[in-house]
Amino acid sequence: MTAIFINGQSVETGDHTTVLQVALANGFHIPHFCWHPELSVVGNCRVCVVEHEGRGVGIACNMPISDGMRVLTDSEPVRAQRKAMLQFILLNHPVDCGICDKAGECSLQDYHYEYNGETAISGDAKLHSTKFFPLSERIILDNERCILCSRCVRFTREISKSNVLGLENRGDSMLVRPAEGRSLDDDPYSDNVIDICPVGALLSRSFLYQARVWYLEPTPSVCPGCARGCTVQFWHRKAEWRLSGLDERHNTRVHRVTALENPRVNGPWICNKGRDLPELLDRPRATQALQKGAPVSLMQAIETARGLLDQAGKRVALVSSWGSNEELRAFRNSLGDYFTSFVKPDHLPLEGEVVEDDLLIRADKNPNTRAAQDLFGTAAAEIPDDTELVLVWGEGVDFGTLPRGVKILFLGSWLLPENGHADVFIPISIQTERRGHYTNFEGVVSPFEACQPHRDGVIDAETLFPLLSAPGGSASGGGAA
Ligand code: SF4
Ligand code: SF4
Repeated sequence: MTAIFINGQSVETGDHTTVLQVALANGFHIPHFCWHPELSVVGNCRVCVVEHEGRGVGIACNMPISDGMRVLTDSEPVRAQRKAMLQFILLNHPVDCGICDKAGECSLQDYHYEYNGETAISGDAKLHSTKFFPLSERIILDNERCILCSRCVRFTREISKSNVLGLENRGDSMLVRPAEGRSLDDDPYSDNVIDICPVGALLSRSFLYQARVWYLEPTPSVCPGCARGCTVQFWHRKAEWRLSGLDERHNTRVHRVTALENPRVNGPWICNKGRDLPELLDRPRATQALQKGAPVSLMQAIETARGLLDQAGKRVALVSSWGSNEELRAFRNSLGDYFTSFVKPDHLPLEGEVVEDDLLIRADKNPNTRAAQDLFGTAAAEIPDDTELVLVWGEGVDFGTLPRGVKILFLGSWLLPENGHADVFIPISIQTERRGHYTNFEGVVSPFEACQPHRDGVIDAETLFPLLSAPGGSASGGGAA
C-alpha cells in the first residue's frame, strides 16, 4: 500500500491516484472549482495548489502520488498562490452576491473569504459580459459570474453525453455557449449543471429569486418519478422562517429538489423530472371524504367503506405502485385476504419525456412497483364482470374501464373528477407528509422523511387499512373474494 505525508501526517492512498483525491478522502481541505469527482481532470482553475516539499507548488488535482512524497496543503507559498488566483478569477466578476441565488452555497464566496479577503488590486474597469443568457427553457446563464471552470461543459460531454455545451472564443472573451445546432432542452439531465456550477452562473428559472437558501432546509427523500428511486433532497422553508405574512402555501411548499449523492442508486445525479417534483406536489389536494360525491366526515366514509367490504361478494383491489413498503405491508396484512389484488401503474410516461435510457431514467414511472409486485404478484389486472367492489388505491385508473355497476372505493390524494364518481372516496396523505421506504427496481430500499405538515381531513393509508378491517368492523366478517 502506497503512503504519503500530508502536512506531516502519514496517510494511505488506497485506490486514489492524485494528491487531491487522497487529501479529500482523508479529511484534508483543499479548495477546488474545476475538479469534480465524476468528471475528467482539466486543472484550469489552479486553486487546488499544494506544495510538494522540495519540488515547489503545483495543482493537487493532477499531481500523481509517489510513495513517501510529502505535501503541504496550507503553507505560505500555497496560500499566496491561491490568493493570486482568486484575485485573477475575480478580475471581471461582478461580485453581486446580494442578488445571486448561489449566495450561501457558493465556493467562490467561501474561498474568497478563506484565502483572499481583500478588494481587487486591479485598478482597471471590469469587463462586462452577457447577463441572463437563455441557455434553455430551464436554465439561464450569467456570463459575468462564470469562472470558466468547464464543469458544465464536461458534464454534457462525459455524463449526460448530450454534447450540448462548449466554450467559445479565448481569454476574457471566452463564453459558455450551446454548440451550434444543439439545445440544452434536449438533455434530460441538464439541471445537474446548476448544482455543479461552483458559482452563480447557471440559474434555475423555476427557482430564480424564489428563496434565499439559508431560509430553506433539505429533507432526505426518494424521487417517485421512476423505478430508479433516486435519492434526493426536498428543500422547504425552515420552521423558524415560516412567516405569517407569507401565503401558507409558500411557507410549506417544496421549493426545489436536488440530488443527494447515493453511490448505490444515482451517484450524485438526478434527471430533470426529479427537479420538477414541486409541480407534481403542488397539484390541488383532496382533503374531503366523499360518499357518492357528497361530503362526509372521514370516520363516516370509513364506516361506509367497511359496509361495502362486508356486503360485496367478489372484490378486486388495484394496488398503488406509489404506496410505501410500510403501506403495502399494512394492506396485505389487513385487507389482503379480502381482495384479489393486482398492482397497477399509477403513472405512465408523459408525452415527450425520455422513457428510458442507460444512465438513470427507467420506463416504469412509479417508485415502488418492485415491492408491490413482491407482495401481490406481477399479473396484469383482470376484473371479472361479476365483481361487486373495486378498491382503487392511487392514480392511474379510468373508472370507465371498470365493470358497469361495480361499487368503487377510491383512496386518493388529489382533487380529481373521479373522487365524486366513487361510492366512497377517502383522502390519503402523500409522500412528503409521512415517512417510509421504497424499493427500487434493483431491490435497493431507500427511506424518505416527512417534510410537509399533515393535512386536516386526510389519513395515512398505513393507518387506514387496519381501520377498514378493524375488529368490530363489518369487513372482518367478510370472506375472501
Ligand atoms: S457556467 Fe459554471 S460550471 Fe459552467 S464553466 Fe462557468 S462557472 Fe463553470
Ligand atoms: S431518474 Fe427517475 S427516480 Fe431519478 S430523478 Fe429521474 S425520475 Fe426521479
